[in-house]
Amino acid sequence: MDENKRILVTGGSGFLGSFLCESLLADGHEVLCVDNFQTGSRRNVEHLHGHPRFEVMRHDVTVPLYVEVDEIWNLACPASPVHYQTDPVKTVKTSVMGAINMLGLARRTKSRIFQASTSEVYGDPREHPQPEGYWGNVNSIGPRSCYDEGKRCAETLFFDYQRQYGVEVRMARIFNTYGPRMSESDGRVVSNFIVQALRGEPLTLYGDGSQTRSFCYVDDLIRGFRALMASGDDVPQPVNLGNPGEFTIRQLAEIVTELTGTGSRIEYRPLPGDDPTQRKPDISRAQEALGWAPEIELREGLERTITYFEERLSTGPTKWHR
Ligand code: NAD
Ligand code: UDP
Ligand code: UDP
Repeated sequence: MDENKRILVTGGSGFLGSFLCESLLADGHEVLCVDNFQTGSRRNVEHLHGHPRFEVMRHDVTVPLYVEVDEIWNLACPASPVHYQTDPVKTVKTSVMGAINMLGLARRTKSRIFQASTSEVYGDPREHPQPEGYWGNVNSIGPRSCYDEGKRCAETLFFDYQRQYGVEVRMARIFNTYGPRMSESDGRVVSNFIVQALRGEPLTLYGDGSQTRSFCYVDDLIRGFRALMASGDDVPQPVNLGNPGEFTIRQLAEIVTELTGTGSRIEYRPLPGDDPTQRKPDISRAQEALGWAPEIELREGLERTITYFEERLSTGPTKWHR
């Protein structure tokens, strides 16, 4: 186990952040969870209230933050297209100003800092699968640009703070990740399909469903996060983290329908602007440098997530909120 640290997690009450806070607490660290609750929920960390080493602070990362910490994880940013497109200017501010403030904090406190970057930096990729060396194919003025370009600018800031000020940076490019504690109104495809199937509603398939994504279960991802943050300076950055199993969105709809057994039909909707046609991580770097690879197959991860949403949609707390 690491020496116990004071650790800041921004976006700590979101889907990924809440699992990360738990994982850090389990190793004996002190965790300060900072969140403005734009898309995260108090409910995700309610079970941690009263924990002697856990604290929640309502704060927006676009505003400077002066706290004394030893390590920083910067996850604050809405991740679902529906949410990040609701207030695109705010999304850019969160990514860019949030990165500047957290890097300023890391510089002053000499903390190692982790950035939750994204496969969206590859845009609609021309190279398949995507290795870290691929520079991407991103529209700078489209509906997804506030997120994609915000995250790209944050990447630039992280590497400039590293070169210019010697800040220690660890950066994950995260591919589509799903699991318990996603909000039922999150809007991303896995939670949408499961919630629709469980409610006996049609599954909303955008476009013809031939676009692909690679889906990683949250436990695998958090294990990758921890391995990456603990890695030495010899590990080249950034590092792709995701599950290389690639599925069309139509296949996903069929698997969810089968696993829930609800017989929901598919309802076609227009494909949103700039929706990437394909996405699959090349995870050689993570495998070689971190010894990391995902272990949970899509069907197994979906079964766990379906169990969660079954509990969530009925009354009372789920086991993931206790
Ligand atoms: P999420 O929306 O559940 O969590 C984001 C959290 O950040 C929420 O709790 C939200 O309230 C908080 N937040 C947003 N703006 C903020 C601000 N200005 N100040 C403080 N807090 C703010 O999403 P998630 O899936 O948990 O994503 C976490 C991070 O991982 C994000 O940075 C996202 O871009 C990145 N990521 C996630 C995925 C994925 O598939 N889940 C993929 C790529 C990247
Ligand atoms: N900052 C912060 N907390 C700190 C240190 C800095 O929020 O503990 C913010 C600070 O307000 C500034 C940003 O981080 O806006 C960048 O800080 P840096 O020291 O790199 O640059 P400068 O202060 O010179 O702009
Ligand atoms: N999608 C869909 N139905 C939905 C939500 C999403 O068909 O109800 C599609 C979406 O168009 C995209 C894929 O599923 O092609 C993944 O979408 P998501 O919003 O989960 O993530 P991202 O597009 O950012 O990878």
